[in-house]
Amino acid sequence: MSTTMTPLVIVRVHELALKGQNRPFFKRTLFENLRFALRDLPIARLQERALRFLVRLEDPTVWPEVAERLRWVFGVANFSPGVETALSIEAMQQGLVEVLERQGAPAASFRIRVKRTNKNFPLTSPELERELGRFVQKRTGTPVDLSDPDVTYQVEVLYDRALVSGQSIPGPGGLPIGVSGRVVALLSGGFDSPVAAYRLMKRGCFVTFVHFHAYPYVRPISIEKVVELARHLSHYQPPKNRLVVVPIGDAQREIALAAEPSLRVVLYRRLMLRIATAIAHEEGAGAIVTGESLGQVASQTLENMRAIGAVTDLPILRPLVGNNKDEIIAEAVRIGTEPISRVPDDDCCTVFVPLHPATRVTVEQAAAAEQAYDVEALVQQCLARRTVYEGDPFRWDPLMALAAATA
Ligand code: ATP
Ligand code: MG
Repeated sequence: MSTTMTPLVIVRVHELALKGQNRPFFKRTLFENLRFALRDLPIARLQERALRFLVRLEDPTVWPEVAERLRWVFGVANFSPGVETALSIEAMQQGLVEVLERQGAPAASFRIRVKRTNKNFPLTSPELERELGRFVQKRTGTPVDLSDPDVTYQVEVLYDRALVSGQSIPGPGGLPIGVSGRVVALLSGGFDSPVAAYRLMKRGCFVTFVHFHAYPYVRPISIEKVVELARHLSHYQPPKNRLVVVPIGDAQREIALAAEPSLRVVLYRRLMLRIATAIAHEEGAGAIVTGESLGQVASQTLENMRAIGAVTDLPILRPLVGNNKDEIIAEAVRIGTEPISRVPDDDCCTVFVPLHPATRVTVEQAAAAEQAYDVEALVQQCLARRTVYEGDPFRWDPLMALAAATA
């Protein structure tokens, strides 16, 4: 009889995130993101029930693949494989038998945790925990350990059914992508900027990636890396991926001819930020994200950040500002961007610049230096040669951006 229960995966969200006015929007967005993440798997049904999402599997063997997909869906606090049962102690016991059959007996110890949404159920949570605990102990011979068990079985008592599940697996947390709007992330190919973009994705933002390169003055590796990074990060976002690749080598050369060497890095950055701002307005993005970390390199001083930031009317978000390189790289390893970022490339900001760029450029100095060339014209020239990638990142061809840069 145990085989008649539909296998399912119970997906839980942080309850705090579900409070307040945005709740319906949050739930709808997460529902759509889950549906997208699981789109090609044999899923009988995806349902939202009492602040949980239930994924009914056509067959329990898809569980590992479902688990792999759920690891990438922001807003998921944790999830566990289980079954749905009727609202009786016998049915819950039968559900536990099913879970035990599928996962094997608990190793050294276990506990049962009951969560009772339905306060009318005749037993209280502690009573039910004891009752079901005794049952599992008798069946498996494994002792209960309330403080540090190997496995925690969860029984969630809802109004019309109970959910019985095994050990839960942590999800990525955060907010579902889409609830916080769109941002433009400046993606360089280094370690920092993909981590910065990830942080904003985790706070519920769609990210449009923007990359600047100096090809044909340098090798085109950074473009290949950025396409690869966008592919990797797209595992987290539903299909609204966008990458804009902008050639700025010619503009940099013009700036280099007109401006004092020590100011060039700041002037390049001001150009990048002006272009990024124009793109952000087109994209309907509310902010620009960078991987800057205070004091990490010469251009990242408070003075230079101010001189660079002065050219945009959008907030610049620097989620890594207080992190050091080790912390950032550790996070890059965790999210999987590190092996891509590690590949050596040519940084466009090092084209035509001295070994020791100025660390304290004022807004006035930068603006004065820009009198020597037509900044607005450079912005327009660069924008005119951009390549916009959208849709499925696995179809994006880096050669397109190369062709546009030399056209
Ligand atoms: P990263 O590791 O992200 O390359 P970094 O330590 O090399 O950063 P900088 O070169 O000062 O530091 O760049 C600071 C930030 O400016 C980057 O994190 C990125 O957001 C942006 N940026 C720099 N170069 C580019 C580029 N070529 N295209 C797009 N964004 C860039
Ligand atoms: Mg860099």
